[in-house]
Amino acid sequence: MIERRPTRQISVGDLKIGGDAPISVQSMTTTKTEDVEATVAEIARLEEAGCEVVRVAVPRERDAKALGRIRQRIGIPLIADIHFDYRLALLALDEGVDCIRLNPGNIGSKERVREVTRKASERGVPIRIGVNAGSLEQDLLEKYGYPTAEGMVESALRHVRILEEADFHDIKISIKASGVPLMVEAYRLLSKSVDYPLHLGVTEAGIPPSGLIKSAIGIGMLLAEGIGDTIRVSLTADSVEEVQAGYDILRSLAIRAKGPLIVACPTCGRIEVDLFAMVDEAKRRLAHLTKPLTISILGCAVNGPGEARESDIGIAAGKNGGLLIRRGEIIGKYPENELVDRLVEAAEALEAGREPIARVATGAGAAGEGGGPGAVTVAASPADR
Ligand code: SF4
Repeated sequence: MIERRPTRQISVGDLKIGGDAPISVQSMTTTKTEDVEATVAEIARLEEAGCEVVRVAVPRERDAKALGRIRQRIGIPLIADIHFDYRLALLALDEGVDCIRLNPGNIGSKERVREVTRKASERGVPIRIGVNAGSLEQDLLEKYGYPTAEGMVESALRHVRILEEADFHDIKISIKASGVPLMVEAYRLLSKSVDYPLHLGVTEAGIPPSGLIKSAIGIGMLLAEGIGDTIRVSLTADSVEEVQAGYDILRSLAIRAKGPLIVACPTCGRIEVDLFAMVDEAKRRLAHLTKPLTISILGCAVNGPGEARESDIGIAAGKNGGLLIRRGEIIGKYPENELVDRLVEAAEALEAGREPIARVATGAGAAGEGGGPGAVTVAASPADR
């Protein structure tokens, strides 16, 4: 069990972040925010993938003026990402955003900061301070020589102090770097200094799979230590992939699960079906499910029945077909071209709380032939998990 570091709780719209709230998954749109149709369409796809809060870039006044129209048409809280221009922050607040990302040290006088915090307080809108190793203040670069965890934390605490001096405490903080060791060290240090909720991310992680791996290691290490209240995986890819990756990280640490997890073997010389095609098709056709089902698709008797026994639905393939197993019980034995159909049916039935329909197997070359999985007995699971 991971023991979470205690943090204050803030509200971003309806979403609670920090304290005992579930660790939330967020993403950022890639559209020009002023293009309301495109932005709303991307957010709809993100919402469908399970994104719980979304950030949009607000570099110009026309982007800020689009925020209200976007907010009205989406079902998750909206964060406006603002740099340097406090007037954009005021406009975004007027447009009804649920949070603003802004570094108060970069917007000028204390009076400007107070204007923003006053309006944010009136509307119950928190501010995320977002420090990036790549944009550390010049004096800190000179002090530390290059971006260090200490320098990043010093920068974050400066911004925090500015907000606290304005009597504003509705804060969350990110302290990102593109290098995993620096990012991990910075968050560890920061978490010892403040109890504000932390937004975790490896910034500019890059393209998958290396970007996924960097994010999984950096975010995963911190979550395993109990650090972090909301996460964003930053990828040079479709933003929907960021959300899927976020849930995969949470699931890997047994923190949260959403939608089916497919366990599949890498295949080897024992394989007698096109397992890669089966897995691809199953992944695509199961993407609409939301329950955290475990689906195993394995190539032969070596591990297939064992994995299937531990799964909600499993395929143990054999020669030109395979067994379909539901929570330890064999539902049927099907030819290769029917297996995914039956798997999807069974998974949809579990999602809907129904029993899957046991069909009479057509018998074509299913698992068990030629000393394959049919030789294996699969113990019935005593109860549904
Ligand atoms: Fe090979 Fe069978 Fe293991 Fe798949 S489950 S990798 S086919 S031994």
